[in-house]
Amino acid sequence: MDGFLTIGQPAAVAAVRGLLAQGRAHAMLLVGPPGVGKMPLALDIAAALLCERAADGLGPCRECRGCRMVEHGNHADLHLLAPTGAGGQIQIGNSDHPEPGTIRALAGDLALLPVEGGARVAIIREAQAMNEHAQSALLKTLEEPPDNTTLILCADDDEQLLPTIRSRCVRVRLGSVDVRSIEALLEGRGLADPPTAARLARLTAGRAGLAVAYAAAPEAVAVRAELVRRLLDLLAARPAERLVAAKDLQSRALALARLLTAPTDGPDAAPAPKAQGKGAAKPAGAAAEAVVDDGEEPADAEAGPVSKTSPAERRLALRTLVDLWRDLTRDLVLVDRGAIGTVRDLALLEEFQAATKALSEGAAALALARLVRAGELLDGNVTPELVLDALLLRWPHRAPPGRR
Ligand SMILES: [Zn+2]
Repeated sequence: MDGFLTIGQPAAVAAVRGLLAQGRAHAMLLVGPPGVGKMPLALDIAAALLCERAADGLGPCRECRGCRMVEHGNHADLHLLAPTGAGGQIQIGNSDHPEPGTIRALAGDLALLPVEGGARVAIIREAQAMNEHAQSALLKTLEEPPDNTTLILCADDDEQLLPTIRSRCVRVRLGSVDVRSIEALLEGRGLADPPTAARLARLTAGRAGLAVAYAAAPEAVAVRAELVRRLLDLLAARPAERLVAAKDLQSRALALARLLTAPTDGPDAAPAPKAQGKGAAKPAGAAAEAVVDDGEEPADAEAGPVSKTSPAERRLALRTLVDLWRDLTRDLVLVDRGAIGTVRDLALLEEFQAATKALSEGAAALALARLVRAGELLDGNVTPELVLDALLLRWPHRAPPGRR
């Protein structure tokens, strides 16, 4: 689509074009699951606004100085805020001398004249990572935005934002990206051959960013498969064995999360916009970085012991585990219902069939509901390890052969 690089989101792109054409793009809230392309769309909007040639509603030219600076992540009037620090939050900042990368620093920057003399754009990645104080501080900027300034908030879940924030933003929803678009993206970037692209597109179910991350880190595919097999094995394990497995599951999940968020050097790697403050999204800008919109901070791909990790990392590990666990359980439910055509992880179909035969009726569906709930809990203030223990203990028990 001319000038827009976002893939597989025709409705959202059309909505954004409409807003740009009407000059109604002062505060936008891009909402959708992780990995569907909120950051790419936010960067498209930024490019359209900072392009020196684009007419209202048209995409960026991708050639002018403004476009090139957005692409290289060094446009002085493009501000990017992302969660930082151990808590994985977007900080409000000191009221007198706000640290770079905080809400108050952003508000201060926006109060100054634009460096290039044109528009100014601020993108807040994972806006749900602002606590109430940070949101209240942002509200002032939203209520009285400086001239020619656009704020773009990206959020997995807008329910965690204050109603006053939501009501001041135009909401644009992003859904799953279709399988064909993801295949084309992976093949087009030379990240995967056609069979691998097809497999990853299916496995990641519409999360293009996740598919790119897996394609860029083939080892992650192996770690994921290992975790899925272990969870399947645990169906036959006694409670004590399950609890013993918890620590290792968490540490392998952290290894997976790190592989998926590590900067990589894909072809046509485009640097992300300049990060504001230390620890904000690094301008490592790989293929994955350009599309993965909700990864946490990139970290070393080597997983250390879980005990040495920060609370944010422990939470990230659990989120990664629950994510694939939910996908696995969803596949079990589908196999149980005979809907094999929609199974995501076809490589494990035989294992899924063996497992469902040994489960009592409805057990997989119940487990799926619990995992969905666990995912919601992890967004809140629960201890990840407690959630994991509860999930392991209530993971269905597989009857010994011949009992069902
Ligand atoms: Zn341009």
